[in-house]
Amino acid sequence: MNISILSLFPSMFFSPMSESILKRAIDKKILNVDIFNIRDYAKDRHKMVDDAPYGGGPGMIMKPEPIFDCVEDVKKQYKSTNPSINTNEIPIILLSPQGKPFNQSIALDLATKSNLIFICGHYGGIDARVEENLVTESISIGDYILTGGELPAMIIIDAISRLIPGVLGDESSTMNETFENNLLESPSYTRPHEYRGFSVPEVLRSGNHKEIQTWKKQESIKRTKKNRPDLLEKAQLSSKELTFIKSIDNNHNSL
Ligand code: SAM
Repeated sequence: MNISILSLFPSMFFSPMSESILKRAIDKKILNVDIFNIRDYAKDRHKMVDDAPYGGGPGMIMKPEPIFDCVEDVKKQYKSTNPSINTNEIPIILLSPQGKPFNQSIALDLATKSNLIFICGHYGGIDARVEENLVTESISIGDYILTGGELPAMIIIDAISRLIPGVLGDESSTMNETFENNLLESPSYTRPHEYRGFSVPEVLRSGNHKEIQTWKKQESIKRTKKNRPDLLEKAQLSSKELTFIKSIDNNHNSL
């Protein structure tokens, strides 16, 4: 996958990309990340990339011209390395607190793309013509305002990279993870079996795979019910699992 990031602060990406799983994916050439400094596309003498908002108001707004020019340049570079590519099909993602909320299903969808372009805003945001005429989707990482789109872009890139085949050592590690079928993952334990008087549930050491699977599913349901009841409502559950939920409710009510 080729990822191009447009930012005013490219060095914010260096550290996260040079550690752990992302570094390995880049070294293995499964992932290629190019970072473009939007300031390099400013045409005036002072390399101005922002200006005061029309109509008044606080903060500075990022100008549209360097961003349009930078995206055009990125597309040209894609075309020169791959002449058969249709650059109009490349998703251009704007990081914005006003975008659709990012989640695992968006991550799964983006992980299937060969090329992605991310635009990071800063200051008071970006001239609205960028969103209206250039980007294909706006994505938010949550209902709070950050200083810039760099961390959101990094979070999204991290979430999608681990879903690309070959990036994680063990492909099965993304199976039955939190959010699959709208459930949270069951609790995990490792050695030692006994620590400060806290012990690992016996069933996990029983070697009985059927019982372990049932336990895991029930724990996953219990956790989801406790922490994310909104998700549990959307989970697809068997009649046995629905009966299990009723039994938790009954136990709870009888306490
Ligand atoms: N004035 C803007 C508003 O009220 O919608 C907020 C601008 S914010 C301070 C600057 C930049 O940070 C945004 O253009 C966006 O790129 C990024 N940003 C901030 N919060 C974000 C979030 N929750 N998700 C994605 N990007 C965010």
